Amino acid sequence: MAMAKLDTLIASARYDVCGYTAGPARSPQRFIHRAALPAGGASPLFKVLLTNVCVSDCAYCVNQVGRDCPRYSFQPEELARLFMDLHQKRLVRGLFLSSGIGVDVSRTMQAMIDTVDILRHRYGFGGYVHLKVLPGAPFDCVAEACRLASRVSVNMEAPTPQHLAKLSARKDLAEDIVERMRWVKQLTDADPQLVPSGQTTQFVVGAAGETDHDILSTVQALYSQMQLRRVYFSGFRPVRDSRLECVRPAPPLREHRLYQADWLIRVYGFSPQEIELALGRNGNLRLDMDPKLSIARRQPWLFPVDINRASYEDLLRVPGIGPVSARRIVESRREHSISSLQQLQKMGVAARRAAPFVWFHGMGKAEKQASFLPQLGPACQRPPSLAGTLAESGIEEAGSR
Ligand code: SF4
Repeated sequence: MAMAKLDTLIASARYDVCGYTAGPARSPQRFIHRAALPAGGASPLFKVLLTNVCVSDCAYCVNQVGRDCPRYSFQPEELARLFMDLHQKRLVRGLFLSSGIGVDVSRTMQAMIDTVDILRHRYGFGGYVHLKVLPGAPFDCVAEACRLASRVSVNMEAPTPQHLAKLSARKDLAEDIVERMRWVKQLTDADPQLVPSGQTTQFVVGAAGETDHDILSTVQALYSQMQLRRVYFSGFRPVRDSRLECVRPAPPLREHRLYQADWLIRVYGFSPQEIELALGRNGNLRLDMDPKLSIARRQPWLFPVDINRASYEDLLRVPGIGPVSARRIVESRREHSISSLQQLQKMGVAARRAAPFVWFHGMGKAEKQASFLPQLGPACQRPPSLAGTLAESGIEEAGSR
């Protein structure tokens, strides 16, 4: 197989983020992505496009129609054999299969399904498969994808039809994308055995002039109405020879703040009204402060919370306390009361962040102010780590506590 084809279809797949991180670009491991597992650790995935031929015109994408670049396609047999070869050599344990639309969405989606069908039924592969549902794919293909895949995703790319119209003249958000998400939900509601790893989506951030408020409002609607398992954010990077070539790339920190806000919505159960408090006048999350700290500072009447009496939900709203440490606090105070920051630290609390927002009997005001408050300015926040934010396990202790 021509190496150029494999390299191109692997490299083009990197625009689907989905929380998988790749090996170094020039290394033999470049086709292996690490997918974080809920119980910790990571699983190696082969992430690839079936084809980079595409009739669509998404202005943020290297594969957009009319762009002068080499175009390649796999045949289902060929791709299934390649995957099994990598799997038998124990290089990969799962597949993430995406694609350009090709010249006809039904034929391309069917070829993706045929690839997975060969893996499942000819080679007996029972492992993880994340299958992209192409915008505009017919219902029968969506149903077949749900039958075969561990996870499916339909990329939103933009939060509203108006924003998507700035990126593509050929995609209709309601018809081509949201309708497919709804089909996945209907199919999985009818048969909960389908798609065990759930449905996800992705937004391109910063390409269409959308605000974080626009994105997070849609994210909240997707979680509540479509029961999505995850939402991913991919910061816009201008593509050469495209009409957005001169648009500035999105700052990586913006992507990171969106992941933090998403975590507050999805894991901490923050309400839309609380998330609003983290937004500045421009509708974006502050870059100089994590959203949980912003929200706490905008509600000073809620603090300090009594660490020995506060509910689990109130503890979760304290910067520096995540779900794991909140549970430990609730459990440990059944046995004895908490009377020092060291005790909190041992339970996984980021004590310096939490100190101005908590109170316990014996906590001296002077100690609290002298020891901790001066260090709470923006400059003392931890440098953000995208990898930490994306990791499925332990994130509450490393990310937006
Ligand atoms: S449909 Fe997908 S592959 Fe085609 S241009 Fe849009 S983002 Fe790129």
